[in-house]
Amino acid sequence: MAKTEATIVQYEKRLRQRQKELEQALASTVEQALSSTVTEAQDVADQAVAGYQKEMLFSQGTERNAQLRLVRAALARIAEGTYGDCVRCYRAIGVKRVEALPWTPYCIDCQELIEKGEAEPRASVA
Ligand SMILES: [Zn+2]
Repeated sequence: MAKTEATIVQYEKRLRQRQKELEQALASTVEQALSSTVTEAQDVADQAVAGYQKEMLFSQGTERNAQLRLVRAALARIAEGTYGDCVRCYRAIGVKRVEALPWTPYCIDCQELIEKGEAEPRASVA
């Protein structure tokens, strides 16, 4: 992607916004999880529902945590001046990809290799 100051500022804004959303969502997920443990389950069916809800909240939280780490890592790359480059092969990430996923650390080629298990993800961003 073209690394003009104006585009970087735009992405930084979007990333900071996303970071805020994720932090707020995580905070409310934790609250929900805590309040659902306080509620006493009445019978086996209620217990199953409560267990399922807790599991759902947990997996949502895990997903948001993972994305929050990616967003923070992307902001760190902006600060370093390496934003927009793939952290694995160091080539520029396609502008459409950055547009759709501003927090992505990988170009499409590396992403595919990692998903297929043919390349190791970078520990610092995974
Ligand atoms: Zn790459």
